Amino acid sequence: MLRTHHCGELNHENAGEKVTLCGWVDRHRDMGPLQFVTIRDRYGVTQCVLDSKQSPLHQDLDKLNLEDCIQIQGIVRQREEKDQNSSQPTGAIEVNMTACKILNHSKELPFQVKDTTVVNDDLRLKYRYLDLRRPRMQTNLEIRHKVIQSCRQALCDMGFLEVETPLLVRSTPEGARDFVVPSRLHQGRFYALPQSPQLYKQMLMVSGCDRYFQFAPAFRDEDLRADRVPVHTQIDMEMSFVEEADVFAAVEHYLQAIFTDIKGINLPTPFPILDFHQAIDLYGTDKPDTRFELTIKTVTKLMQETSFSRFQEAACVRAIAVPEGSRHSRKKIEQWQKIAQQSGAQGLAWVKYCRGEASGGIAKFLNSTNIENLLSIMEASDDCLILFVADTYETASHSLGAVRSVIGKELELIDHGKFHFLWVNKFPLFEWNCQTQSYNAMHHLFTQPLEEDAHFLESDPSKVRGQLYDLVLNGVELLSGSIRINRPHIQKKILEIINMPREESESKFGFLMESFAYGAPPHGGSAMGLDRLVAILCGEESIREVIAFPCNNSGIFPLDGSPAAINEMQLKELGIKTSD
Ligand code: ASP
Repeated sequence: MLRTHHCGELNHENAGEKVTLCGWVDRHRDMGPLQFVTIRDRYGVTQCVLDSKQSPLHQDLDKLNLEDCIQIQGIVRQREEKDQNSSQPTGAIEVNMTACKILNHSKELPFQVKDTTVVNDDLRLKYRYLDLRRPRMQTNLEIRHKVIQSCRQALCDMGFLEVETPLLVRSTPEGARDFVVPSRLHQGRFYALPQSPQLYKQMLMVSGCDRYFQFAPAFRDEDLRADRVPVHTQIDMEMSFVEEADVFAAVEHYLQAIFTDIKGINLPTPFPILDFHQAIDLYGTDKPDTRFELTIKTVTKLMQETSFSRFQEAACVRAIAVPEGSRHSRKKIEQWQKIAQQSGAQGLAWVKYCRGEASGGIAKFLNSTNIENLLSIMEASDDCLILFVADTYETASHSLGAVRSVIGKELELIDHGKFHFLWVNKFPLFEWNCQTQSYNAMHHLFTQPLEEDAHFLESDPSKVRGQLYDLVLNGVELLSGSIRINRPHIQKKILEIINMPREESESKFGFLMESFAYGAPPHGGSAMGLDRLVAILCGEESIREVIAFPCNNSGIFPLDGSPAAINEMQLKELGIKTSD
């Protein structure tokens, strides 16, 4: 070994020992007779000092650049009380240098390797290896590693087998666009990179594998939004002979292990469950942040009794009661009105109730009985602001949901130390696509309808709910999954409803259907977004902070310049001509 210790390891117990450390120059200060070099590696930093001007080492140290890779030898000594730095594990000692060898020089840096330096995103990604040297990024990588280890252990303990599924597959029917890979050996034919291992994990269940998991890359060629990457990692799993509750329990078990190991938190289980309609009714969204209340209430009947004509005619009026009503200015309310409008509402009516009196907005249309009834339904007390949307039930719910989530952040109603998990289930199986005038599958085509809704498959597919679930954490959708269809006649019916021609389904996943004809067991599973989970555990906003080598938000990877052109020879071998 080129070192005896790492840079985060030495403490007063090592005083007097001769040590050798390797790492990068984090800081270099020349203070007259004293020279300080702080050496850094993944584990921490150690202060090294040279205190005799006579030492020939002085000249060597003069040549040091930040981020040179060095090896230092010296004797550990306790720092004087006044010089100790309690914020660092090695802050009680320093290494009195006897030798310093430059293992490799560093060029002038494109940016300082410091957590506090603000650097343009593309520059960070171009020099990602330097960016990753920053302690915060090292910690993120370590947390990601630990999450994977805890999760793997917990799944193994439950009897899950880790199985790899193919990365070059037939174009899959998961809803997004595929990345495709041309075949050289079979010109004119293409592989696709899997959008998820969905079909393969289902066939693993047909194979009798019983319990499968994998940390699987999922490739989706989508238009990139701020926090989307073309390939993300899923904690993918599938189980045979199970019902929804069994999948929930397995997921809760591995999350408990992760949160205990990473955060020292004992997550209470089982997680609460809301069905899709309850989630929309209470929070106006299927991914509610349940760290704060501010639930939406229906006040249609009550508001029809007021003299406000807009409400008298409305199909539905819904409302939220915001605390500390007197605090919110007209300007603030106007901002919230814009948010409601962006979500489809025509407006956001309001009234304040402070010190026993209603004022502002629509107050003049409400008599004292209206106000009394309103406060009672809204469970609101003095000093509140009530916001209303009159529209269809869906629009009123969604727009108030959007306003609710902004208000939760702006009024700091959220306790950021909390982790609120919520299962949302019983989603509609189909959604109506106005463009194609047909139904689409809400999740994917393989979800089993709820037993009690199966009769609507013929009469009104919009009423059919699926055995379909999401797991939401603090308002973020972390996982999706479902109990799958395992009998061909139901699958056939679903394909009819979404109007998929037989040839298309046959060519896209006829092989899965074929496997189901050989005694496919009942099965179900889920896929969790690993990057998002790790980002939340690291307290990072963007998943790019927890992926070692992500691309930027236009799908370009500045480090290697991909996607890049390939040469004529490669194109020729593949039988591909590009148009200019
Ligand atoms: N394959 C699905 C997805 O990636 C997850 C699942 O249903 O298990 O969303």
